[in-house]
Amino acid sequence: MPESLIIRPPSEWRSLLVRITRGCNWNRCRFCGIYPAMGQADFSIRSLAEIRRDIDVLVLRHPRAETAFFGDADPLAAGMEIFCDAARYLRQRMPVQRLTCYGRVATLHRLGPENIHRLAAAGLDRIHVGLESGDAEILRRQRKGQSPKMVVRVARWLREAGIELSCYVLLGLGGRDQWRRHITETARLINRIEPGFVRVRRLWLHGNVENGCPLWQEVRAGDFVEQDPEGTVRELELLLEQLRPLETFLACDHANNYVQVSGLLREERDQMLAEVRDFLALPEERRQAQYAVIGSRI
Ligand code: SF4
Repeated sequence: MPESLIIRPPSEWRSLLVRITRGCNWNRCRFCGIYPAMGQADFSIRSLAEIRRDIDVLVLRHPRAETAFFGDADPLAAGMEIFCDAARYLRQRMPVQRLTCYGRVATLHRLGPENIHRLAAAGLDRIHVGLESGDAEILRRQRKGQSPKMVVRVARWLREAGIELSCYVLLGLGGRDQWRRHITETARLINRIEPGFVRVRRLWLHGNVENGCPLWQEVRAGDFVEQDPEGTVRELELLLEQLRPLETFLACDHANNYVQVSGLLREERDQMLAEVRDFLALPEERRQAQYAVIGSRI
């Protein structure tokens, strides 16, 4: 049995899912703690022999797969040798059209431009990174382990290497106090780096104060006031207002978004903005009904 991933991007639902590492090697983001919560508290690197064995089985089981994805949270932390060997082996066993993975900005920053070119040469086409916010102070407070400056450098190296960048943005990460700054700085950073994709999510604190994600402690102490549903939709509105008409595909491709819009910013930004505003113009009870039916989950 190949080892299965704990989490993958929604867009990779048809991909061969190959586990290179287990869990998250960082595990410090205040809003997360998801791997420990799902039973994978420790980080470990799988051996090349194990990974190759899994690829052999996956290729036999899914002979028509056209894409592949490497996990868990930061498979690049396995090191260049293991990652590139696994990528080459996969492509040798199956001519997939696309190979993607999750990756931490901090890891890519440490690897540097030369290694990023090596990743491209080994067959990596796209990388999904947690941008979360473009605001340096919010990132520091949430212990993301990256800064906007690092993101700008990494985005440039990826573009030069020909690897697509897919960024996740977390509405609500500034809480109710810092939401305008959170969104303004996030839009500023996206406008600067022009990623291929922006994927929007809503902050959801899993578990509870006693047993849940670390940010609950700040909520309990009153240092972080959670954004309310309407505020989250206002954040999406502000984000769309401030984004330039880039060659970037924006998608609210997670079920926990209250309003689901998607499209190419260059062509569909105004239409997406109109959809969000139409929603905000609905009668109060219709909006509240929508907030009530949208589930909160990973
Ligand atoms: S958000 Fe990503 S990097 Fe941060 S702890 Fe969670 S899995 Fe790890």
